[in-house]
Amino acid sequence: MTFDRRQFLSTSSLAVAGTALARVPLFGQAPAQTPPPAVTAFEDIRRNVGIFTGRGGTIGWLATPAGAVAVDAQFPDTAKACVTGLQQKSPKGIQLLINTHYHGDHTGGNPAFRPVVKSIVQQERCAKLHKEFTAKAGTESQQAYADLTFGESWSQEIGDEKVWGFYHGAGHTGGDAVIVFERANVVHMGDLMFNQVHPRVDRPSGASIKSWMSVLEKVAKRHSDATFIFGHAKPGAPVTGTAKDLLALRTYFAAVLDHVQKGLKAKQSQDEIVKIDSLPGFTNYVSNGAVLTLAGTLTAAYEEVAGK
Ligand SMILES: [Zn+2]
Repeated sequence: MTFDRRQFLSTSSLAVAGTALARVPLFGQAPAQTPPPAVTAFEDIRRNVGIFTGRGGTIGWLATPAGAVAVDAQFPDTAKACVTGLQQKSPKGIQLLINTHYHGDHTGGNPAFRPVVKSIVQQERCAKLHKEFTAKAGTESQQAYADLTFGESWSQEIGDEKVWGFYHGAGHTGGDAVIVFERANVVHMGDLMFNQVHPRVDRPSGASIKSWMSVLEKVAKRHSDATFIFGHAKPGAPVTGTAKDLLALRTYFAAVLDHVQKGLKAKQSQDEIVKIDSLPGFTNYVSNGAVLTLAGTLTAAYEEVAGK
């Protein structure tokens, strides 16, 4: 029984590996730890805006009588469930898919949206990274790329809602957009928000912890009373929250940089600095998979501080 179950998991994981995860190992959850099949769910926030959870980054959505919008696309299997659900909520169909950033657990499901949406919207740096990194991985045929890009900001009216995309500088990657549903006062942070999970800092794409901290401060100030959607959260923790949660991640990053700077001053080796069991004061943060680890975050901080 146990053996059969393992075989099933292993086969399913390989099937997943064949599609998006292994060839585009952008998020860092090892395929073997992906629990198939994903349970999906729609949840309302307010004013026709809500979240869809399945596998990968949280999808935000707007569903009005005039049409629907999705923010991020997860993976092909869960994207299909999201498309079907949004089409039921909004009989006029899905107008737009917006990607917060290029990572595979946010864009892998784009092809499920492509035939039914008018546009796929990305910040221009995100669009560039999406093409570059998927070309390197040889997965272009499994992608659907943006046909509408923006620099600093973009907006569009859908029914009685106005949707905005903003670029505030480097953060989790070199091209993260913050998506705002203005009248609902809901802000999708993509992976600029990890709730109590050691976050990935994607330096090869241009990520920066110092800039990420500024982005969190700026967005928390501009949208101080908004409800925020987070890309990821630790098991059991919410994927939505408030400006306080953004500032908590900013404080975590300050502690990460402080730890690295103290270590460098004390002439500790990189290994001594990054291989600690927990960050004092932040024991509530957990690891997820092989990439979202304290050592991973500290290594990125070390490289950033040491100028590597
Ligand atoms: Zn990401």
